[in-house]
Amino acid sequence: MNLRIIERPSPNFDARARGVDLVVLHYTGMQDAETAMARLCDATPIAGKYPGPWQAPDIDPATPLGRASAHYVIDEAGLIYRLVAEENRAWHAGVSAWEGEGDVNSRSIGIEIVNGGHDFGLPDFTDAQIETVIALLRDILPRHGLDASRVVGHSDVAPGRKRDPGEKFPWVKLAAASVAQVR
Ligand SMILES: [Zn+2]
Repeated sequence: MNLRIIERPSPNFDARARGVDLVVLHYTGMQDAETAMARLCDATPIAGKYPGPWQAPDIDPATPLGRASAHYVIDEAGLIYRLVAEENRAWHAGVSAWEGEGDVNSRSIGIEIVNGGHDFGLPDFTDAQIETVIALLRDILPRHGLDASRVVGHSDVAPGRKRDPGEKFPWVKLAAASVAQVR
């Protein structure tokens, strides 16, 4: 399958300190795809541009936020946007660890799946999204010599701090397609 990828470059990346051996799946947890991609492409994010339940309503709108990004975003229609090239280190995992090693960003490819998450009623993921997640993983995993055991959720690498992609994420469907294990 030829993947159609829409380029939506983000300035939020730096150099990897090591090779890729992990894929981290997320939900965006924001209002909609455009807001999420704007945030992930914003080099100077401030609180006033991204109002939501994650911050106090009386926060000074000029308060700087941390810069964030991911390699790919998959919207509800199943379209793939590339924000950061795989050879670069995107900023999606934050404080995190896997197999006793921190800096998960250096070793992983981050995929953000557009979904409001726990802050927005925990909507279902769409079938088109999940089909695209499977197709993208079928492309990524062999190129990096990885198997299904190397696909994890943000909540796996940042337990207690992050809940995404959440309990509605259909790991069973990914496992049936041999691109992940049930988590
Ligand atoms: Zn996440």
